[in-house]
Amino acid sequence: MNKSIRKAAVIGSGIMGSGIAAHLANVGIPCLLLDMVPKQLTDEETAKGLTLENPAVRNRLAANAIAKLAKTKPAPLFDNSFADRITPGNLEDHLSQLAQVDWIIEVVVENLDVKKGLLQQIEGVWKPGTIVSSNTSGISINAMVATCGDEFKKHFMGTHFFNPPRYMKLLEIIPGQQTDPELVTFMKGFCEKLLGKGVVLAKDTPNFIGNRIGTYGLLVTLKEMTENGYTVEEVDAVTGPAMGRPKSATFRTLDLVGLDTFVHVADNVYHNVTDEHEQRIFTVPLAMKSMVEKGWLGEKSGQGFYLKK
Ligand code: NAD
Repeated sequence: MNKSIRKAAVIGSGIMGSGIAAHLANVGIPCLLLDMVPKQLTDEETAKGLTLENPAVRNRLAANAIAKLAKTKPAPLFDNSFADRITPGNLEDHLSQLAQVDWIIEVVVENLDVKKGLLQQIEGVWKPGTIVSSNTSGISINAMVATCGDEFKKHFMGTHFFNPPRYMKLLEIIPGQQTDPELVTFMKGFCEKLLGKGVVLAKDTPNFIGNRIGTYGLLVTLKEMTENGYTVEEVDAVTGPAMGRPKSATFRTLDLVGLDTFVHVADNVYHNVTDEHEQRIFTVPLAMKSMVEKGWLGEKSGQGFYLKK
């Protein structure tokens, strides 16, 4: 297949979107990083007399995400100067620029309706031939493009990066029912050779492979902890480096992932399986849902199972 990816667009500048944009910059691919227009001014913007019409305000979410890259640990960029390869913006004002890239990656909140709406918006400006993918943790690839045209569906697949994108070698590629098999082969080769990933092709089943197993393990750990009275520190002490795993143990991983995202990901299996045993396993403990309601989302909000230092 005669294809190449010279320029990309990442939509959603949160934990994963900014990390994916950084990794693309690492390998020399310039990309747009687009997020939403903020709904409110910050105190600082108000003091400067700015309004919601000001471009600096409108592009603030993605611009802040790029600025944060240099301070994030472990470092998402090979070299902080590579941040210049990422152009921040907001989707509303820059939608038409999606026609100028070779790969569009959707990395917004884990919610089917939001993702569906966004993909319809993208299809409206989509240049035939452009690859479009989703970084969903486990929402159905087919469901996301159910209302899109056949040509768009041929160019759409899941490209599920793991957190943090620069360091985690695993990448799941999930073809939809109508994805062009030649494009899947192209993307597998591209992600392996250029992005340095170990690609596993996965079927479009709830949470694919990594998160079906991973979420299961985390929920079983939470259940055992509650029933046996283990502490967060005890569980992390035995499920982290002591067990040969990298730095992140159970609760440190949940704080890194984001508790809100974890709840969405576990709920996705709960709502998409009929087996009662599986539903029981994939039931998120109420205590965790109430942490999310309080805004304890993990590292991104400064408080999760741990306080961010
Ligand atoms: P996040 O909450 O950190 O960021 C989501 C971003 O999307 C926010 O900046 C938000 O403003 C933006 N957004 C929401 N709706 C938008 C829209 N309509 N248009 C433009 N921007 C919009 O979330 P995250 O952790 O980066 O997760 C993003 C996706 O990646 C989800 O599908 C998630 O399941 C998946 N994922 C997350 C992890 C993880 O460890 N956090 C790992 C793998 C995959």
